[in-house]
Amino acid sequence: MLATALRKVRGTPAVAAIATRALSSHARDTNTYIQQALAELKLPERFEKMLVTPRRELCVQLTILNDRDEVQTFEAYRVQHDNARGPYKGGIRYHAECDLDDVRSLASLMTWKTAVMDIPFGGAKGGVTVDPSTLSEMEKERLTRKLVHSFRGVVGPHTDIPAPDMNTGAKEMAWFFDEYSKYMGFSPGVVTGKPIDLHGSLGREAATGRGVFFALRNLLEADGAGGVEGKSFVVQGFGNVGSWAARLIAENGGKVVGVSDVDGALHNPGGLDVEALAEHIQSGSSSVDFKENGTVVVPGQEIFGMECDMFIPAALGAVIDAEIAGKMQCKYIVEAANGPTRPEGDEILNNRGIKILPDIYANGGGVTVSYMEWVQNMQEFKWSEAEVNQKLEDKMTSAFEQIWDIHQKKGVTMRTAAFMLAIEKVLASRQLRGFC
Ligand code: GLU
Repeated sequence: MLATALRKVRGTPAVAAIATRALSSHARDTNTYIQQALAELKLPERFEKMLVTPRRELCVQLTILNDRDEVQTFEAYRVQHDNARGPYKGGIRYHAECDLDDVRSLASLMTWKTAVMDIPFGGAKGGVTVDPSTLSEMEKERLTRKLVHSFRGVVGPHTDIPAPDMNTGAKEMAWFFDEYSKYMGFSPGVVTGKPIDLHGSLGREAATGRGVFFALRNLLEADGAGGVEGKSFVVQGFGNVGSWAARLIAENGGKVVGVSDVDGALHNPGGLDVEALAEHIQSGSSSVDFKENGTVVVPGQEIFGMECDMFIPAALGAVIDAEIAGKMQCKYIVEAANGPTRPEGDEILNNRGIKILPDIYANGGGVTVSYMEWVQNMQEFKWSEAEVNQKLEDKMTSAFEQIWDIHQKKGVTMRTAAFMLAIEKVLASRQLRGFC
C-alpha cells in the first residue's frame, strides 16, 4: 500500500532516494501524508524533496554527573525542519524511546502545524533519549542545562524557539531560559511554556487541551452532529493534553466514558468524574486506584475498542495501526497527540467512514499560545487569560473553517485538506523569499 502510494506521486530518482534513505516508520508516515497532499495539489515533483528534508539536524551527547557522582551519557537531538515562514518552533521531549527518526517526523509535523494555525513560525523538534522518571530533580536540571550548552548555537528568540513536549514542562523551560540567558543575556523569548512568574503566558498550560476542545466542538458543529453535550468520549492518555481536554469536555456536558494512561484504563459508560480523577492523579496516586461507582479498571489496550462518539488519542505517536483501526468503535477521532495514526490505520479508518481531525490542526492550540507568549515577551507586556483564550478560540475556528472548506470542496479527508493548506502556505513563503 505504502509503496503504491509513494510510486503514484514520485518521479525523479532523487526523490525516491529520500523516502527510502534510512527513514524508519515515523518519518516515513509523515512523508506519506505529505505525498498524499502533494498528489492532490498536483505540484511539480521537484518540490517534494525540499518539503520532506530537514534543513538541519543536530545530534549531541549530553554527559552529566549523577547524584552518586557517576558519569551518565544521553543522546539529544534538535531537528530544524523548515523556516520559510519564520523562526523554527517546536518542543523538546524527554523519553526513553525517543530517537532521531522520531524527532525528524515531529519536526516536520511542526512545520505543517504552524502553517495550518497561521502563526509566523517554522517547524522544529528536540528530544533527549532518557526515562526522566529515573532522574532526580537535580539530575534533570543538570541535564537540561547541559542541553542548553549544546543547543545554544542553533536556538534563539529569532532563530529557533523550543517549548515543552512529552515529559517536559514549565520547570524545564525555566532552567532553559536561565541557562541560555547566562550565555546570551536576558532572553525570555528563547523558549515558550515558561512558568507564569517567569515570563510565561496565562493560559499556556491548558492551551493544547483547550485547543483540542475547540477543535472537536468545531468538527461536531460543522458535521451537523450538534454540540458536545450528551456525546460520549474516550481519551487515551491523561497527561497535560488529555486531562485538560477531558476536563473541558466534561465541563461542557460531554460524557468521558473511558480514560487510559501508562498504568491502565478506566471505563464508565455513565461518564467518569474527570475533575476528581485529575485531582487523584495529581496527588500522586495511580489512575487504576481511582474508586468511583460504575468505574471499572480494564487492560490498557482495551481503550481502543471502547464504544464512543469520539476517540481522542492524547499520548505517544503511531498507536493506531491497521489492527487497532479495524477494532475502533467511534464515529470521530480527534488527534490530540502528534502522529498517533499510521497511514495503513488511516486508510482503514477512512474506508470505515470514521472521520479524523488531524494532529497538525487538532493539537495546534499549544504552539498557538506559545506564539502568544513569545509576542508578550517581545512586547514586554502581559495579556489576561481571557484575552489569550479568546485569541486561541478565534485561531482554532479560522483554521478549522479553511480545512473544512478544502475537505468539502475537494472531497479529500480532513488530514489531506490540512496538509494541502499547510504545504501551499510554506511553498508560497519559500517562493517569495527565493531559492538562492
Ligand atoms: N510540543 C507542543 C507541540 O507539539 C508545543 C510546541 C510549541 O509550543 O512550540 O505542538
